[in-house]
Amino acid sequence: MSTSYAPPVQRLVSELSKLPGIGNRTAQRLAFHILRASGEDAFALAEAIREVKEKIGLCEVCFNLTDEPRCRICQDPRRDHGVICVVEEPSDVIPMERTHEYQGVYHVLGGALSPIEGIDPEDLKIGELLARVVPGAKSVDGEAGAMTSANGAGSDAPEVREVVLATNPTTTGEATALHIAEELRTRAPALTVTRLASGLPVGSDLEYADEVTLGKAFAGRRSL
Ligand SMILES: [Zn+2]
Repeated sequence: MSTSYAPPVQRLVSELSKLPGIGNRTAQRLAFHILRASGEDAFALAEAIREVKEKIGLCEVCFNLTDEPRCRICQDPRRDHGVICVVEEPSDVIPMERTHEYQGVYHVLGGALSPIEGIDPEDLKIGELLARVVPGAKSVDGEAGAMTSANGAGSDAPEVREVVLATNPTTTGEATALHIAEELRTRAPALTVTRLASGLPVGSDLEYADEVTLGKAFAGRRSL
């Protein structure tokens, strides 16, 4: 980067270049765009960044992003609270919701197991998942009541019937799914544990599928 920029401009460029997918050239382009923008627009951007950092936290039940103690999905009495879909990141909830296929609730792990990167089960919300699933101190006599209260420690949650492991079909995602499946099998043998079928992208030709995807699609074949 040229060192002839005034320090405030340099600071903006260097902050922008920390964003994913933003190289130095793009950061400079964005910085000049912001400099040209009206004060109103530029301050709205700054304020939006401040607001998400101040107001957005993690749902006390599922660890999805929320501006309330519980996220909208956990608060929704029309959702099936007996089915929990386990995902790695809050951003994984959005594509799942977009399919309109899923009516259950979620559990966001906050990553995937990776011995290489030093990410162990304790670093993820796995213990919290087991606490949601395994009936223990938390369960109240089986009333599948609507979750309307915005506070309380989840004692109104109905019994969980199924856990769908929707971690990414990557090495770390698969390892995470296997680990959780094992934990669930020993603690809750009656629970149904499923894994998302990873198959071929709809509308694409077999010849364009990479071999991992194709191999998985083959291994996961069902009878017709
Ligand atoms: Zn939630």
